[in-house]
Amino acid sequence: MQNESLIRIDEVSFTYEGASSPALSHVSADIQPGEFVAVLGHNGSGKSTLAKLLNALYIPTEGTVAVCGYDTRKEELVWEIRRRAGMIFQNPDNQIVATLVKEDVAFGLENLGVPTEEMIPRIESALSAVRMSKYADSAPHQLSGGQKQRVAIAGILAMEPSVIIADEATAMLDPSGRKEVLDTIRMLNRKKGITVVWITHFMEEAAQADRVLVVTDGEVRLSGTPAEVFDNVDLMQEMHLDVPPMTALANALRQEGMPLPAGILTVEDLAKEVDQVLCPSKSGT
Ligand code: ADP
Ligand code: MG
Repeated sequence: MQNESLIRIDEVSFTYEGASSPALSHVSADIQPGEFVAVLGHNGSGKSTLAKLLNALYIPTEGTVAVCGYDTRKEELVWEIRRRAGMIFQNPDNQIVATLVKEDVAFGLENLGVPTEEMIPRIESALSAVRMSKYADSAPHQLSGGQKQRVAIAGILAMEPSVIIADEATAMLDPSGRKEVLDTIRMLNRKKGITVVWITHFMEEAAQADRVLVVTDGEVRLSGTPAEVFDNVDLMQEMHLDVPPMTALANALRQEGMPLPAGILTVEDLAKEVDQVLCPSKSGT
């Protein structure tokens, strides 16, 4: 059956074999084409389990996951699902399979049985999209962590996916590598309309998404825009998750009686709202 959502997660629970409690319980979420959705949670909250359910590496114990309308329980659809839902993992070294960058990008296409003459333009276009064209003939082990992750992204892109699922793709990178990889993914989302599920424990990264799902103990505890989610300062702190510093400061000022509105994320947001409170006459509206 066709489905409007790109990914539909309906009342999904998952229990590992032999485990006494489920890693995920009754998770529901719909991801629309073109969305950039962050899944935020601390270690052990169930993020990777969720990621693996999204491309049929795992099958729900209960409930349904559908990707582009394809039910992940149907074994005959597994490859249809995996070429639409590409995964990037945490460790760039574990994702490199070839001795040259361009061969690495070719790997997924070979598995899909794409004819050679079609492979070359797809590889070039994927490497160009992640700005790694000049490294096509380089050895992957000579690249930085951020560059390796961009090659891994190119390998997924070459397969022309509908959605990229990145499971803590920046967790092993230095700050510049983190920025390089997140910027690349955001650009692919904006310019090519690729749907993104960005799994992270970095609050700053989740703050850049269209929508955030906060996962704790295998449950989605909060979901909404970054502003909506981070305004739950007390609940976030209870879950041992950070909120943007300006959101926390706005919350503290509010508790001291300053009438600040919700949805403050940045220094600019807070400066504007404090100015409104202190000098209401400056308001042009
Ligand atoms: P996260 O990615 O958020 O760190 P995971 O999805 O890896 O969380 O883990 C969720 C829960 O499932 C944790 O309690 C973890 O110990 C457990 N778990 C993860 N992988 C396995 C496995 N292969 N077998 C048994 N339990 C697992
Ligand atoms: Mg994980």
